[in-house]
Amino acid sequence: MKRLSPAARSLGTVTLVLIALLGSAYAIGRSLVPDRPPAGVTTAATGPHYADQERARSTDGPDGRGPAGTGQSPDPEPSPEPTVVNGIATYGARSTTGTSTVALTFDDGPDPRYTPQVLAILREFHVTATFCVVGEMASAHPDLIRAIVADGHTLCNHSWNHDVALGSRSRERIQADLLRTSEAIRAAVPDAPIAYYRQPGGAWTYAVVAVSRELGMTPLHWTVDPADWRAPGAGRIASTVLTGVEPGAVVLLHDAGGDRQGTVDALYRILPDLTSRFHVEALPPGTT
Ligand SMILES: [Zn+2]
Repeated sequence: MKRLSPAARSLGTVTLVLIALLGSAYAIGRSLVPDRPPAGVTTAATGPHYADQERARSTDGPDGRGPAGTGQSPDPEPSPEPTVVNGIATYGARSTTGTSTVALTFDDGPDPRYTPQVLAILREFHVTATFCVVGEMASAHPDLIRAIVADGHTLCNHSWNHDVALGSRSRERIQADLLRTSEAIRAAVPDAPIAYYRQPGGAWTYAVVAVSRELGMTPLHWTVDPADWRAPGAGRIASTVLTGVEPGAVVLLHDAGGDRQGTVDALYRILPDLTSRFHVEALPPGTT
């Protein structure tokens, strides 16, 4: 066997060490990169006005404050970091139930075409859910707000008119929007708690998380998004939900904002299976 010269041997050793270093750097880099959104989690930047899709994936506060709290905030609760969930910066907004219970959430309503259908199906399966209602819709359909509460569901504030850019506006404007929405809800159900706020489009910012908490609402994101607002059909909606749900999941669905018959029909496929595997229940209504 041909013996290597000392120079060749040390060159070989250096090469091996370099390969090992590069390999571990790659592994560390991978672990720092958030996972790609799982199948079924859409990140489309375009879509109808009422849809809870990501619009702005910003690592910096659009209000110029920045997530690191470069602007002063009296509320230490929001995460100073964007805290990415499925590719969306949530600033600490809640994205699971915190227990093994699974929560269905219905956004953008109430809508006289679909909300009564959703309520009827939930009643049939003895399931309660969380309704993230839009202020102007609540104002137009107080009877539906009362029907939601009468069936034991939990209410969530979803802004006055689904302003996806609300998080980048002034704190005063954010606060006024959320208060106006809660007032419209309370006009229908004076004593019902509104314990959650969901930012339209999931376009969370540090400011909107902080203001919703200051107003006594828990900012609520989601875990599973079947993109039902795109009307992919009941089968697709149901399969994405049924394969994506794990204990503690918060499922994003829509009972308004467009043609939601696919969502309504999907519930007939989702609920028998889901209720056989999980405890499906509204998020705790809270005490606010
Ligand atoms: Zn929405």
